[in-house]
Amino acid sequence: MIIGVPKEIKNNENRVALTPAGVSEMKKHGHVVYVQSTAGLGSGFADDEYTQAGAVVLPTIEEVYAIAEMIIKVKEPIASEYPLIKKDQLLFTYFHFASSEPLTHAMLEKGAVCLAYETVEKTDRSLPLLVPMSEVAGRMAIQQGAKYLEKPLKGRGILLGGVPGVPPAKVLVLGGGIVGTQAAKMAAGLGAQVTIMDLSLPRLRQLDDIMPANVNTEMSNHYNITRAIKDADLIVGAVLIPGAKAPHLITRDMLKLMRPGAVVVDVAVDQGGCIETCTPTTHENPTFIIDDIVHYCVANMPGAVPYTSTLALTNATLPYAVQLANKGWEKACSENEELKKGLNIANGKILYKGVAEAWNLPY
Ligand code: NAD
Repeated sequence: MIIGVPKEIKNNENRVALTPAGVSEMKKHGHVVYVQSTAGLGSGFADDEYTQAGAVVLPTIEEVYAIAEMIIKVKEPIASEYPLIKKDQLLFTYFHFASSEPLTHAMLEKGAVCLAYETVEKTDRSLPLLVPMSEVAGRMAIQQGAKYLEKPLKGRGILLGGVPGVPPAKVLVLGGGIVGTQAAKMAAGLGAQVTIMDLSLPRLRQLDDIMPANVNTEMSNHYNITRAIKDADLIVGAVLIPGAKAPHLITRDMLKLMRPGAVVVDVAVDQGGCIETCTPTTHENPTFIIDDIVHYCVANMPGAVPYTSTLALTNATLPYAVQLANKGWEKACSENEELKKGLNIANGKILYKGVAEAWNLPY
């Protein structure tokens, strides 16, 4: 198959959908890969590395779309890319159709085959192409939290791990899924005193088994949260209720119970946030302060570490991309239920219920 890798053009998107290692794997399977010049630069991969791995580097995005049977991307196409998409061209990328009606209509009209990373689903209902970004965001939450706890950045001025003779900081993690687990591990590794709260008792049991001694688990409820926020230095919001807005576990009036200079990192901000006062921020301007509490609410945290994020994402996407290239989308999806769940649009029809429901379109 002829595979095309365009450079991402969405603002501040430095990830790339295929690394030189991915190109080499595709070549091994007999495919031809065209990469747009500088597509990998933001993630640390120069054009030369792609050429050495066997790709053909093309100067423009137009040439990549024109030649490719399958386009592998990171983010959804933006309006200027719509005219480049060909009928029956396979696009394998994050789409998030339910949050963009114009994108849904554009892909239907173009007759593209849209396989969305975010809805590829395993039989245990986990989402293998979302997990890597949650892992990055969870680990990064502690790095950012530690930074914003510093006094010059308006934090409490406490070192997460303390030092001999001085107690460590207290970290509260709300939600013990992928983000929460990675955040708790990082905070514990730095020596903080960590509490993870979750609603699921089986999940708390599992966490209790695998976490080091400086991590406690607690049931998530209003009483426990109200008590724990009073002496927490850093709070990480990591809850998810699939398909719904995040619940506001910390409301505006609860902020006054917290220590001035405490930091909240609400990773769940992309689903509305689990701290009421959190609204999405950007890497250019990541924080704001309400009632002396530093709020960090960046909605695309992995974007700040494109090298790690690209490798983490492509580790997960490549095996699926190889199946699509080897078999074509129809055969690959009929033989692999996980991939089939990723099919959102094909032959001018919506094939994913959630997308049809979001825009009142036939399914
Ligand atoms: P996950 O499904 O693995 O974990 C969510 C956890 O929240 C589950 O264990 C669930 O039991 C728990 N939960 C639900 N309601 C709760 C409550 N009331 N109290 C405590 N726990 C509760 O999800 P995840 O992959 O860890 O993702 C968490 C959030 O982070 C999602 O909203 C995701 O979209 C977001 N995210 C954001 C970024 C970013 O850049 N900001 C990056 C990746 C993921």
